[in-house]
Order: sequence, then C-alpha cells, then structure tokens
Amino acid sequence: MSFASFELHPLLLSNIESLGYTAPTPIQTEAIPPVMEGRDVMGLAQTGTGKTAAFLLPILNRLARRQPPKRRAIKALIVAPTRELAEQIHDAVRELGHRVGVKSLTVYGGVGMSPQIQGLRRGVDIVVACPGRLLDHMRQGHVDFSALDTLVLDEADHMFDMGFLPDIRAILEKLPAKRQTLLFSATMPGSIRALADDILTEPVTVRI
Ligand code: AMP
Repeated sequence: MSFASFELHPLLLSNIESLGYTAPTPIQTEAIPPVMEGRDVMGLAQTGTGKTAAFLLPILNRLARRQPPKRRAIKALIVAPTRELAEQIHDAVRELGHRVGVKSLTVYGGVGMSPQIQGLRRGVDIVVACPGRLLDHMRQGHVDFSALDTLVLDEADHMFDMGFLPDIRAILEKLPAKRQTLLFSATMPGSIRALADDILTEPVTVRI
C-alpha cells in the first residue's frame, strides 16, 4: 500500500514525501478510503498510530481540489480535549497542508478571546478547538458553521473523562445536521458507544 493509491492531490503527496512518510500506517490504510468517500467513521486508535493524518489528509484533499474561495468559510471542525493536542493537530495541518492554501485556527481557553475572534472574522477553513472555549464563541455568535462539511471528535474518551460530553452535545446541536462525522477514541466505553450511536450515520468502524 502506498499513499499514491489514495489519489490524493499532488501537493499532498509531495508534502507527505517531504515529511518522510514512506507508507501509510494501518489506521491510515483503513480509514482514509472511507473518509475520502464521505462516510462517517468510528476510529479506534491510540495516539502515535498516525490517526491525525488519517483524518486530515482527506479533509485537506477536499480543500486542495476546490476552486479558490472568494471568502473563506469553516469547512472542518476538529474538537480535541487539550490545548496541547489542538496545537499538535494545527501543526499537522500546517505540515501536511503546506502550499495548499489552507488556513487553520486554534481555539482554546486560558488565552485571550480577542485574537481568536479576529482570526475567525478574517476567515479560516479549519478550526481546531477545545470544547469549552469553542462553546463560548458559539454562544457569543463569533463563529459561523453554516458551511461546515466535516466534524472530527478526537480522543473522545479523554473528552468524556474530562467532563466535556455535555459541551460536546451542546456544540453538536448547533452544527449543520448534514455533515460527515469522524469519531476517534482509544477505548470504547459505554459512554462513547452511546455517543457514536447518536451522532454517526451508518459508520465504518476502523480498529487497529
Ligand atoms: P499521531 O498518531 O497522529 O499523533 O501521529 C504520530 C506520529 O506519527 C506523528 O509524529 C506523525 O508525524 C507520524 N506519522 C503519521 N503518519 C505517518 C506515516 N505514514 N509514516 C511515518 N510517520 C507517520
């Protein structure tokens, strides 16, 4: 299996090569095709397996293939439990999306609201957020998700452990119902299974 077999945009293949990835990891091999097809996916994978690229490459591929937009609108929302993970995902967007012309913004608490509000006003393609601060922005009307295509919930079991599930459900209520949803979790406790049952439509389950 090679990255070329996924029919990714040439810029993405070149970025993958620059990063030194020679072959997709098992989670990438299993998850990238259904994600590219637009299916909902439940991914059971630990950190370190390459799960970030598994969801980012199809998202970036869609953004790379579009016409340059007149005005940027948020096409993908990635929700993560910690600032550190949000920053890691944002870094991966920058590396994998190099020269693709994609703008990503991180949104989390413990730092000022205004730079985030300004960033949202200027327009971004991808928002990588922690639940609490994202909900603050949504409640204050700073963020427009009407053009959202894809929602990713990363490390869902950690979000549950940290008590974020009510925030996640409040966020979900305000997102377009017609969207692709990807749920990643290292473990599958009852709470995550219940969430998956509620929010995923005919999901492909990928377990590695
Ligand atoms: P993740 O599980 O997404 O946190 O990724 C773990 C690490 O694996 C990151 O440092 C990635 O840059 C790296 N990585 C992701 N995909 C590949 C790949 N196909 N080949 C080599 N390294 C990879």
